[in-house]
Amino acid sequence: MMFDVIQIPAFQDNYIWLLRKGAAAVVVDPGDARPVLAVLEREGLSLRSILITHHHGDHQGGVADLLEHHPAAEVFGPAAESIAGISKPLRGGDTVQLDSLGVDLRVLAVPGHTLGHLAYYGAACLFCGDTLFAGGCGRLFEGTAAQMADSLSRLAALPDDTAVYCAHEYTQANLRFALAVEPGNLRLQGRAVEVAEARAKGQPTVPSTIGLEKATNPFLRCSEPEVVASVRRRTPAAGDQLTIFAALREWKNGF
Ligand code: ZN
Ligand code: FE
Repeated sequence: MMFDVIQIPAFQDNYIWLLRKGAAAVVVDPGDARPVLAVLEREGLSLRSILITHHHGDHQGGVADLLEHHPAAEVFGPAAESIAGISKPLRGGDTVQLDSLGVDLRVLAVPGHTLGHLAYYGAACLFCGDTLFAGGCGRLFEGTAAQMADSLSRLAALPDDTAVYCAHEYTQANLRFALAVEPGNLRLQGRAVEVAEARAKGQPTVPSTIGLEKATNPFLRCSEPEVVASVRRRTPAAGDQLTIFAALREWKNGF
């Protein structure tokens, strides 16, 4: 590992990710500054960069306060969204050079949850905000089902051992839905048991991996016969993979 990743819980179920190498720190999606400042102080770190995935307050609400304490930090985020404090606007295809960590991250445009949503990939890590979740995917607040399906398919094409650092602890509820969709998936059954045990002990279930998501996340499995059959029982008109995905997302909204 080129850097350590520290998980900072925030609000009810958010995770802020802090990447650390030596005394340098980079944070992803600081919705709240206080818990981040506490870790920086406790560990004696200086904040060099902030990465933002999208404009929702629980992902960027802490930027102004962090800049007050660490005015030299550079702030990367989507050029296509209006977010105060961004000094380095980004688009899909760009590269973020994090010199303090000695690592480059690829910027992926992943519209769906919001239209300008970005994900960051490098050093076998994916920071994907509210696009791909452990066992699920983000709601379609701005984008279309087609955009989200395309975004997820590009994330699913990353190597299986990629660590998936999503921004919320939603796994247990996501897997309850996944089991309703695909009750015969043995790997999913096993994962649900592991996740229930972890949550009962108050342990996190994130990060996940791309390989595990491909095996158990119904939103990445819209061509699997059991997923198709379950969706068609509720939505008989669902035909191709995209309409299956759209119907699955609708089903989850009301689950
Ligand atoms: Zn969001
Ligand atoms: Fe969020």
